[in-house]
Amino acid sequence: MRKSAFNPILKAVFLFGAMAFISTGCSDEESLSALNTQSSEDVLTRSVTETSTDSLFVANEVLIKFKTDASSSDKDSALSKVSGTVAEKILTHSMKQAGDNEGLLLVKTPENVLNAVGKLKKLTVVEYVEPNYIYTIDEIPNDSYFTDGLLWGMYGSATSPANEYGCGAATAWAGGHTGSNDIYVGIIDEGYMYTHEDLAANAGTNPGEIEGNKIDDDGNGYVDDMYGWNFADNNNKIFDVSTDDHGTHVAGIIGASGNNGIGVAGVCWNVKLLNAKFMNKKGGTTADAIKAIDYFTELKKAGVNIVATNNSWSGGGYSQALYDAIERANVAGIIFVAAAGNDGCRNDVLPTYPASYTNSNIISVASITSTGELSYFSNFGVKSVDIAAPGSGIYSCIPQKIKGKAVSAYASYDGTSMAAPFVTGAAALYLSTHPNAKASEIINAILSSATPTPSLLGKCVTGGRLNVSGF
Ligand code: CA
Repeated sequence: MRKSAFNPILKAVFLFGAMAFISTGCSDEESLSALNTQSSEDVLTRSVTETSTDSLFVANEVLIKFKTDASSSDKDSALSKVSGTVAEKILTHSMKQAGDNEGLLLVKTPENVLNAVGKLKKLTVVEYVEPNYIYTIDEIPNDSYFTDGLLWGMYGSATSPANEYGCGAATAWAGGHTGSNDIYVGIIDEGYMYTHEDLAANAGTNPGEIEGNKIDDDGNGYVDDMYGWNFADNNNKIFDVSTDDHGTHVAGIIGASGNNGIGVAGVCWNVKLLNAKFMNKKGGTTADAIKAIDYFTELKKAGVNIVATNNSWSGGGYSQALYDAIERANVAGIIFVAAAGNDGCRNDVLPTYPASYTNSNIISVASITSTGELSYFSNFGVKSVDIAAPGSGIYSCIPQKIKGKAVSAYASYDGTSMAAPFVTGAAALYLSTHPNAKASEIINAILSSATPTPSLLGKCVTGGRLNVSGF
């Protein structure tokens, strides 16, 4: 996950290597803190003056939420101010169930996005208008470096220094606590390789859908969404061998099959994985992120036992539309686990979204190393980052392309992208042993059982690392 796209310095340096990123990216936190007190418009303006905004949001698109009393002619008049045309009306079932019959408009405009936002936000009929931000995954290029224990993140034994700082899942497993096939998690990410040898047993399917009959059996608006839905391409193909390694790696940390004699083991040996693919290698947009989040909210309301979504991505600025979608998930009782970001920065000073939204269902996750240090790339924040989990040298599932076909493979990745799914897995593991636990109780269990860790003191709310040994 990458931190605020509003820091163009960070963005630019990231391209040239992580160490340079650290040495210069956060050296000016005091001046960066000024950003926090400015309006989003000011921040946008600042970013424009410093660098190209090409990768921050989709060019020539804005998301508009009109006030409920805006008439058709009011809307037409507003759109005409930016020569705008409606590309899509986003009105999910979750929005309607929340009493919103208008939804959001994704509008194309020939104008510069910031100019269009500036013009439209002044209109009294507009509740809010935002760029269609671009989010990216939070993975750090890894040079295959890792220490003794391939799966150190799953252990947590003080008698084995190589594994000491893991999350303690192995202790839970030893007690017979290995998850449950009745519990679902939503992976909001790239797609994932649901046919991977270590994931297939835990590849969940939409129980309301019948595969391949070309009918939207459960009436959720998506035809044949068996393993999830591809919001980036608007179809049911959630796996592409060329693009979905990050999503597959995340899936393996949450729920690779354990004790099956192959590959790796996830925090939950038994769980049901579902996927909302909204990113490809170019990233994903606010418009698609909202639909992805609402997808799981609607499945949960339809009776699918979704405990949490994993969100190992970030970018953009504050989006009211994204906040509202996360809140709909909150009301439905879904925990939203978010990677804290990979800028090595303090999120209290420069927020990273979605991790830094204030919705009570968010758990923001930093990354630690196998020696118990905060990972050099990890964002932190004593007010805004909740807990740390293993995120350096994490070995998990990936697809490999051999002669054009997808083959099950494994690799070690770094990133808060890898730390978040440990916590998502923890939520599913806790629910498996406490089947009546509410989302708030699961969050409390995860945070209150964190093991105090010196490197995390003053760096996150709990000052500790994930410990699921008692789950
Ligand atoms: Ca369907």
